[in-house]
Amino acid sequence: MMIRNANKIVIKVGSSTITSKDGTIDKDFLDNFILQVKNLMDQGKKVIIVSSGARIAGVSTIGKWSRQQDINYKQALCSIGQVELMDSYRRIFNKHGIHIGQILLTKDDFENKDRTLNIRNTLFTLIDEGVVPIVNENDTVSVDEIKIGDNDMLGAYTTVVWGGDLLVILSDIDGIYDCNPTDNPEACLIDVVDDIDKLEKEISIGETSSFGTGGITTKLKAARMVNAYGIPMIVAHGKTKDIITQISAGEKKGTLFLPRKA
Ligand code: ADP
Repeated sequence: MMIRNANKIVIKVGSSTITSKDGTIDKDFLDNFILQVKNLMDQGKKVIIVSSGARIAGVSTIGKWSRQQDINYKQALCSIGQVELMDSYRRIFNKHGIHIGQILLTKDDFENKDRTLNIRNTLFTLIDEGVVPIVNENDTVSVDEIKIGDNDMLGAYTTVVWGGDLLVILSDIDGIYDCNPTDNPEACLIDVVDDIDKLEKEISIGETSSFGTGGITTKLKAARMVNAYGIPMIVAHGKTKDIITQISAGEKKGTLFLPRKA
């Protein structure tokens, strides 16, 4: 099974996965998640994390700002929350004797050859030294024109630049359904997708969750990108205990996007 053999794995953690209902960082999730990453590393696998959650962490740290919707305030909240986020990752990874490195990127960085090469070199160096890179969008410098906009696509860019062999998207949902399961109890989970065009015609895509940004549309876009490079992608429920371990053991848990055979 392709998933079990994956050696270079990018895991994207969505905002609603990393936070609790009250908007604070979900320590129980992070404990379990990081332990699973450590287990993968113990098996000789290499992992990059793409983590959302900076803005929510910012809001829950400094709740009293009233102009939270203004762009400069949003960016300021991200800069506050990014520290909180990384602090949580660092504390837990350090318990396992693992160091982390922070990488903040914008779309511009992937469109410039020199920058892309630098990103690649830094990722390779960190990984070679056993450090876990944690990637997020650089919200301070990101205005709409240069924004990737959602971490599903940031995950896809990162996977391609690094030459990863699997992208895992942890969301607040078990996978892609034929219609939004939040308001359709009859919604059916789709196990495997090998034709995204066909899937798009067949399913109905509803609103995202309150914390989420990209929703299903950006997940399909991310799948298109990595699949074009022959890399599979899986969408799974982040808060399911030991989900990564289950995925990497080849137990199907979510929606798997397989590249089309040439
Ligand atoms: P995250 O940022 O955690 O990845 P998002 O909120 O961006 O989460 O996207 C997941 C949400 O998309 C789900 O919680 C669900 O409410 C919504 N959604 C809409 N249509 C669908 C669909 N067809 N299948 C699955 N989820 C859907």
